[in-house]
Amino acid sequence: MTKSASNNLTKYPQAYAVKHKDIDVRMASRSGGVFTALSDYILHNNGVIYGCSLDENYMAIHTRAVTKSERDGFRGSKYIQSELRDIFKYVKADLCEGKQVLFSGTSCQVDGLQMYLSEVDTSKLLCVDIICHGVPSPKVWKDYLKWTSKKYKGKITCVDFRNKKKYGWRDHVETIGIENKLVDSRIFTTIFYRHQILRPSCFKCPYKSLTHSSDITIADFWGVENAVPGFDDNKGVSLVLINTSVGEGFYSKIKLHLSSVCCDANMCLQEPLIGPFPEPIDRKQFWELYRKSKFSTITNKYGNNNIVSKIKKKVKIVLKKNKN
Ligand SMILES: Cc1cc2nc3c(=O)[nH]c(=O)nc-3n(C[C@H](O)[C@H](O)[C@H](O)COP(=O)(O)OP(=O)(O)OC[C@H]3O[C@@H](n4cnc5c(N)ncnc54)[C@H](O)[C@@H]3O)c2cc1C
Ligand code: SF4
Repeated sequence: MTKSASNNLTKYPQAYAVKHKDIDVRMASRSGGVFTALSDYILHNNGVIYGCSLDENYMAIHTRAVTKSERDGFRGSKYIQSELRDIFKYVKADLCEGKQVLFSGTSCQVDGLQMYLSEVDTSKLLCVDIICHGVPSPKVWKDYLKWTSKKYKGKITCVDFRNKKKYGWRDHVETIGIENKLVDSRIFTTIFYRHQILRPSCFKCPYKSLTHSSDITIADFWGVENAVPGFDDNKGVSLVLINTSVGEGFYSKIKLHLSSVCCDANMCLQEPLIGPFPEPIDRKQFWELYRKSKFSTITNKYGNNNIVSKIKKKVKIVLKKNKN
């Protein structure tokens, strides 16, 4: 039996602002750590977790986890498209064996899985999607790592797409480990937010609304300072949207591990819940330049890695210091 539409709650999901009570969990997670609370519960009941991890080349892939240490690789946002490979087949096999399964991914990945499983008994499946800005091209990330490795003359040893521990939850700075040094940068982040490297389908994304087909939607709770004043400590707050009665059931089981405040869904309407970002008018130009140029041309023009941007940044820091 597949999940029926009657599992869906009212038109607007119940929203919560959430922080995991364990600060170490929160610091290891992108937002408030709700994914760890949900997956801990499933693992404790001998279930299986599917999510996005990094392979040996620091590229995003979906894998299967049955232990906490395997699951820990899913924590943290990887701001590139994750490769699914044969993962839906593994989910199906686990469900057919009667296992409890949590699948996490972007809204389109969750919707794709649900379509794939239309003939399967999904009563033991919990679908969790992330609110998704859009996914950048893995090729650009790969070229960026290659360029960084060459620039700093060493092998890449670790990556953090968004270094929350050093810069806080709100800021967006990537950190790349090269041999024994750590390089902090905003180059990839800057290129990402200019949107030329997002997948073409993201400009027509049909999941940019409060209604999602997953059981639970999780996100960064942007705007939490207005929705729940005093809750934000810049260490990460998750937005949780409960979409189905199945999601509601699981959420009630993990609540004891969370500081959770009920909110009005209309107070959490960040841009990716309203509509897709428009395709940049210079997207074609960007890719034409990309194909014929060195990667450094792209970092200079689109990653603010040029002398004018660097001077502007220094002036900004001096002005800020003088103001303080
Ligand atoms: C490409 C991308 C775009 C995002 N855009 C937004 C946004 O616009 N607004 C917003 O509020 N939040 C966005 N997020 C962040 C997302 O909302 C957080 O992952 C979520 O808040 C989880 O919080 P947590 O503390 O429970 O996270 P964690 O424990 O860090 O959980 C991470 C979860 O994200 C999944 N994940 C990580 N990377 C990927 C990937 N590349 N593809 C698919 N799944 C992935 C993992 O499987 C896991 O379930 C984005 C994340 C990604 C990867
Ligand atoms: S923006 Fe939409 S189409 Fe693009 S990856 Fe995210 S959910 Fe999928």
